[in-house]
Amino acid sequence: MQSICILGSTGSIGQSTLDVVLRHPEQFQIFALTAHKNLSLLIEQAVLCQPQYIVLAAEQNYAQAKTLVQQHGLQCEILCGPEALQQVACASQVDVVMAAIVGAAGLLPTMAAVNAGKKVLLANKEALVMSGALFIHAANQSKAQLLPIDSEHNAIFQCLPFDFEYGNLAASGISKILLTGSGGPFLKTPMELLSSMTPQQACAHPNWDMGRKISVDSATMMNKGLEFIEARWLFGLQSKDIEVVLHPQSIIHSMVQYCDGSVLAQLGNPDMRTPIAHALAYPQRIESGVAPLNFMQLADFSFCAPDVQRYPNLKLAIDASNAGQSATTVLNAANEIAVEAFLQDQIRFTQIATVNESCLNAIASQEVSDINSIIELDQRARRQALVAIEQLNQSSSRISASHV
Ligand code: NAD
Ligand code: MG
Repeated sequence: MQSICILGSTGSIGQSTLDVVLRHPEQFQIFALTAHKNLSLLIEQAVLCQPQYIVLAAEQNYAQAKTLVQQHGLQCEILCGPEALQQVACASQVDVVMAAIVGAAGLLPTMAAVNAGKKVLLANKEALVMSGALFIHAANQSKAQLLPIDSEHNAIFQCLPFDFEYGNLAASGISKILLTGSGGPFLKTPMELLSSMTPQQACAHPNWDMGRKISVDSATMMNKGLEFIEARWLFGLQSKDIEVVLHPQSIIHSMVQYCDGSVLAQLGNPDMRTPIAHALAYPQRIESGVAPLNFMQLADFSFCAPDVQRYPNLKLAIDASNAGQSATTVLNAANEIAVEAFLQDQIRFTQIATVNESCLNAIASQEVSDINSIIELDQRARRQALVAIEQLNQSSSRISASHV
């Protein structure tokens, strides 16, 4: 019986994780569930899986949580605040931590799990993008087992040989990692219309049902950029080892190309319960609830190269990963602020890249060798992004005033 802590249980990945876990009560039990603010769903989940702890990152909901726990006759303890996330992630009773908080908020709890040597199921790619070498070093030191949940990285992991040596593609006869992406909802949108795309349109991904931040990242292809950086850290790759391939149907989840001409791919319906079940049971296999792939019903199966004019964020991310750790920390932070501003209708879709680029230009590359300097840099880039957004809004109000 493995005891699991789900960081971010109320999100898209968190809910899919619980769905898989509840199909296998003989193998898994829930130790802790955590949420930011969605108390009603957290309580609903607690009723289903009877955890020992529920954690609310937002402290103001404690009194209400206490009343609901009593009303439902739950036995769990309620913890509140960001430190409590770390506390449950490294608790001695926990075997497996699902890191499914979105964004930088997940860094410290995920690191707590890594430092405690847990089996860490990594969905929260931003944590790895922000801290890179430090994260991987910490996992090596503590012997934490890192298993990728991002569907592409999980696919690559499944296509690599069992004895793959970190960073040594040649030793396994691998010539390239083919990182696939759908191109998001705006793959075919005329370029001149991109700047008027709304948050609702950006969040309507053709194949995947995901949280709002990653949905916007998929539309800008920043998501593929973050995944490019994530793949470099997870498997020890250089930029030249990875090729981004657009595959709009999202049936192939990524591929590994070998020097003898073989290409191994992992395929499946676009449903995150597959990588989640794979990582939960690894190295065994368990049922995930995902419908089997029906090849007779697959209409198209196509591939093309990404267009950097359409997806400037993809290029920014690849360039940042070549520039070094501090650039990727800055880019991740700027992007979180820019995406939120877009979701709040404060900037246009195409201005996400403008904000990101201006932050990368404004903040010089620097040494970030410990977690505090990473958090400081993250905070600085967020402030810089807010300034950039303010400037964009001032110049657009000047333009509209001059048209009156
Ligand atoms: P989501 O927005 O649906 O859920 C996010 C979760 O994080 C929620 O439980 C929320 O309560 C919690 N959270 C948000 N802010 C928080 C804070 N400040 N403190 C504590 N908790 C907080 O997001 P998601 O789509 O489930 O994505 C989660 C992570 O997984 C992201 O890093 C994303 O990139 C990655 N991922 C998601 C998918 C997917 O299909 N959804 C696929 C691959 C990777
Ligand atoms: Mg992905």
